[in-house]
Amino acid sequence: MTELNRLKTIGDDAADLADRAAALDSSDPLAGFRNQFIGSGDPTITAYLDGNSLGRPLLVTRDRISSFVDQIWAKRLIRAWDEGWMDDPVRIGDQIGRVVLGAAPGQTVVGDSTSVMLYKWIRAAVASQPGRDEIVVDIGNFPTDRFVVEGIAAELRMRLRWLEADRRSGITVDQVSAVIGSRTALILLSDVAYRSGYLADVPAITELAHDHESLVLWDVCHSAGVIPLRLDDWQVDLAVGCTYKYLNGGPGSPAFGYVRADLQHRLRQPIQGWMGSAEPFTMAAHYVPSDGIRRFLSGTPSIIGMLAMQDMLALIEQAGLEAIRAKSVALTQYAIEISDQLLAPLGVEIGSPRDPAVRGSHVTLEHPEFRVATARLWECGVIPDFRPPDGLRIGLSPLSTSFGEVYQGLAAVRDVL
Ligand SMILES: *Cc1c(COP(=O)(O)O)cnc(C)c1O
Repeated sequence: MTELNRLKTIGDDAADLADRAAALDSSDPLAGFRNQFIGSGDPTITAYLDGNSLGRPLLVTRDRISSFVDQIWAKRLIRAWDEGWMDDPVRIGDQIGRVVLGAAPGQTVVGDSTSVMLYKWIRAAVASQPGRDEIVVDIGNFPTDRFVVEGIAAELRMRLRWLEADRRSGITVDQVSAVIGSRTALILLSDVAYRSGYLADVPAITELAHDHESLVLWDVCHSAGVIPLRLDDWQVDLAVGCTYKYLNGGPGSPAFGYVRADLQHRLRQPIQGWMGSAEPFTMAAHYVPSDGIRRFLSGTPSIIGMLAMQDMLALIEQAGLEAIRAKSVALTQYAIEISDQLLAPLGVEIGSPRDPAVRGSHVTLEHPEFRVATARLWECGVIPDFRPPDGLRIGLSPLSTSFGEVYQGLAAVRDVL
């Protein structure tokens, strides 16, 4: 093909792809949710492709925050702790459990950050496994997960068994099977790989862990709110996740953590603060852990940080997680289709699984120029994120992302390249 013909073919493909975006948007049963997000009509934001890093704010959140300040904080003052704030970490935890985790009440709590919660959960888990001195962890896991577990291994003289997955996919059952044994205290993995978007086989790996009497901790930062989870049915031991990604809790909103009900009494968390003690306001001489999931709290939780996520949880419940997953698959499929047609001729490769059954809600595209390209894209209101060495991450949040936005964004990637 001559250069001119090649460009002409790309031009024809682009017209077809743009038509497809319009058709997909008009038949999208969730399309109506998009205008409930502030900024969805902002002409300076051509395409927001990073809802997996920071979800957009909802219109109702603006009212919730201002009425919280005026009506509750200002008027109820310290009395509000007794009137609801004390219960918020567990009440909202139960809401997260019901709407996104497939978890019965009393097993999920909100507080800390994901990093701090990972520390507490890992530390509590390994302390409950005396005589076992190994932790299995994925070298492709998000930095904070690896850094925290490295610190714990050094603190307790434990050995880390690093798994190395294919960069474009993720950890398999066979890989875990090859290293797990009678010394394994804990397996720490992410269900959706933050780079490739690969979706691990949570039920199978969890079962394998249990066959060896190991515990398993799933980091669900990149699945919570976008992929239906069944933590109770899968008999998952422990999980932690973010609320500012697909749960739109806002920058720095607190994390959530899940501990299976029958494990709770066995685990002693390492940051024994007063908020997780049996009776915080008796100002007791010594620490006695609270019953149930509350014992995993440490200090005063961020009540203001828990406001926005409640609005997104309500919206997810209304839309239905199965419908959200269906749109997520359609969005990532469409992004791959555009990349194959418009970007592959420019040297772009797909760094994510092509099979939607093992793909989360983001797609990573690879090209050596993406670091430079990302800065140019941000300047023109197209906002994906860059993950070294050469990955452009296209994060698609089904309730706030349209197919038209995906098309506009990826057409801009082509132009910038
Ligand atoms: C986003 C993310 C985190 C973030 O941790 P913070 O403590 O909130 O900064 C941790 N782990 C994974 C897998 C993530 O994707």
